[in-house]
Amino acid sequence: MPATVTQLATYLYTITVQIFLQQCPLSLLTDYTSSCTITTASQTNYDFIIIGGGTSGLVLANRLSYNSAIKVLVVEAGMPPSNYSEMPMEYQHLNFPVSAHDWNFKTQPGDYCNGYPDGCVFHQGRGIGGSSLISNMIQYEGNSVDFDRWNISLWNWSILSQELLKINLLNGSTATNGYMEVSYPHSTSELINKTTEAFANLTLPLHMLQGSRMGYYEVPAYVKSGRRFSVAKGYLAPIITRSNLCVLYNTRATKINIDFQTKLAKSVEVKNSSNAVFTMQTTREVILSAGTINSPKLLMLSGIGPMDDLLAKGLPVMVPLEGVGKKPT
Ligand SMILES: Cc1cc2nc3c(=O)[nH]c(=O)nc-3n(C[C@H](O)[C@H](O)[C@H](O)COP(=O)(O)OP(=O)(O)OC[C@H]3O[C@@H](n4cnc5c(N)ncnc54)[C@H](O)[C@@H]3O)c2cc1C
Repeated sequence: MPATVTQLATYLYTITVQIFLQQCPLSLLTDYTSSCTITTASQTNYDFIIIGGGTSGLVLANRLSYNSAIKVLVVEAGMPPSNYSEMPMEYQHLNFPVSAHDWNFKTQPGDYCNGYPDGCVFHQGRGIGGSSLISNMIQYEGNSVDFDRWNISLWNWSILSQELLKINLLNGSTATNGYMEVSYPHSTSELINKTTEAFANLTLPLHMLQGSRMGYYEVPAYVKSGRRFSVAKGYLAPIITRSNLCVLYNTRATKINIDFQTKLAKSVEVKNSSNAVFTMQTTREVILSAGTINSPKLLMLSGIGPMDDLLAKGLPVMVPLEGVGKKPT
């Protein structure tokens, strides 16, 4: 099918599903209402300002605001999750071709994009929960070799693997008492049975080995009772009423103001949905967790990045730092 026909079909499908969704229990969404709004008073006195209420931002918001003496502000450009993101098998449609839960970035043309000469879509989640709203929901912790290769003492596998165990609550097993609900799809089919048999014959492990991805097994997923279990559900919903936590939706950080002498972050400029600009002050730290593309972008808009790039765009140079915005190694 030509691309335009496929896209039209996808749009029609999406609209139809939305109409049906309004009629069914999926429309009963988790409540993420945060009682705070921006006022003159609310612009001061945050111990921590977290930019980006995605996967990492919400984990930090949860842990930092555990101490009621610490005031935490989360600034999130997107909205709370819609009912569309609740349906696990909808993830393909959630991020194709355009979605309210995706920043809908497209790469520059080049030969690095699976053979698409005009560039391809680079998915990044937008909304409370971040990319966990559009992800494939696979519970995946990576390979121990990668962590150890970084050679950073507190990030080595022996330490991190213990921390990772605290994240998940695996239904029906003896796993730890974490925040994220994980379940197995328990799919059955002749193909699965035969493949499992074949892997068993090859004496490859038929279970998940922590820290290794070698083997064949049923993949655990962030799904609870047939619904997506996003980081917003796991880490934010249970604590949204904490009085020392403020979550601003539909509010985009546009710049981190840094003191030129001390190089300390002092405040964050934000724009609300009406494009009104506010300056939110911090007494301690700004935490930048805006995702792979927007974090380096915001650093550069704030004067941190490769000097030549900043000067070319007429941006002030606060801290010349070559690696910002470059391919991670
Ligand atoms: C399509 C897709 C499928 C994936 N599937 C899996 C999977 O199955 N299993 C797995 O383990 N991982 C998966 N991942 C990866 C995982 O989701 C990410 O690694 C993780 O969510 C990254 O977390 P983060 O906090 O860095 O960024 P994100 O979760 O993306 O959060 C960044 C947040 O910052 C917000 N933001 C951005 N700019 C601004 C701004 N200027 N002001 C305010 N807010 C801003 C965004 O709206 C977003 O909410 C997938 C990712 C994608 C995109």
